[in-house]
Amino acid sequence: MKIGCHLSSSGGYLAMGQTAVSIGANVFQFFTRNPRGGAAKPMDKGDVRAFIDYATANGIGPILAHAPYTLNAAGAEPRVREFAESVFIDDLKRLEFTPGALYNFHPGSHVGQGAEKGMELVADILGKVFESASTAIGHLPSTVVLLETMSGKGSELGRDFGEIRAMIDLAEARGVPRGALGVCLDTCHVWDAGYDIVNDLDGVLAEFDARVGLERLKAVHMNDSMNALASHKDRHEKIGKGKIGLDALARIVNHRMLRDLPFYLETPCDLQGYRDEIALLKSLRR
Ligand code: FE
Ligand code: FE
Ligand code: ZN
Repeated sequence: MKIGCHLSSSGGYLAMGQTAVSIGANVFQFFTRNPRGGAAKPMDKGDVRAFIDYATANGIGPILAHAPYTLNAAGAEPRVREFAESVFIDDLKRLEFTPGALYNFHPGSHVGQGAEKGMELVADILGKVFESASTAIGHLPSTVVLLETMSGKGSELGRDFGEIRAMIDLAEARGVPRGALGVCLDTCHVWDAGYDIVNDLDGVLAEFDARVGLERLKAVHMNDSMNALASHKDRHEKIGKGKIGLDALARIVNHRMLRDLPFYLETPCDLQGYRDEIALLKSLRR
């Protein structure tokens, strides 16, 4: 089972790998930079090399880098979109130091421009990002870029599987190669968006497969939710302590369409809490 959690990147890559192992994890997620935005620390090549050796020896991966929350590729103002584009390119360049990583981003908020316009803007940026990053790297990025399923808070895009598919199609029409984009399914977000993964997990996954294609699903954000189905709130809860509940989360880690994917916890936990949740979810595997 591939399972881990979000970790602080403040100590570097090797420290994240060691922390993951210490809590029973074999995957982890991290922010590439301050989640509120700003410059990333320069890459420490010695740290990255030490991490890659450690990850290989300990069977860690895939690692999942999370874009900053302030990245809004669908923003109305040009400087908001320029920031999104430059961070995105910089992150893809940096992730080439750890080949084969996943990069997750929130598709964005259309801020009143309408979902159609917002999705066009997201696709425009993805097209430019892949072109610029490929030129800078010298080949296509080895990172798979994941659109995260969102709860539909405010004007968030990606609140339903149709929007996720539409953004992928629009991006591919702008030259993003097939296979470069995937999806990260966040259990709290899809529940808050109105997908009943408690009473109809099979139906929700069948709909995902029909609308997006199961082959595009590359990661699961494993969270309980503080709020009710279709609340559009996005407040994560500890595993088994929220409205999704332990029985449904146990079905998720065992579902034949999900069980081979990496699961990343983003619950409101400290390291000991994550250690306990990882042990709990492992114990529920059949
Ligand atoms: Fe996220
Ligand atoms: Fe998430
Ligand atoms: Zn969330």
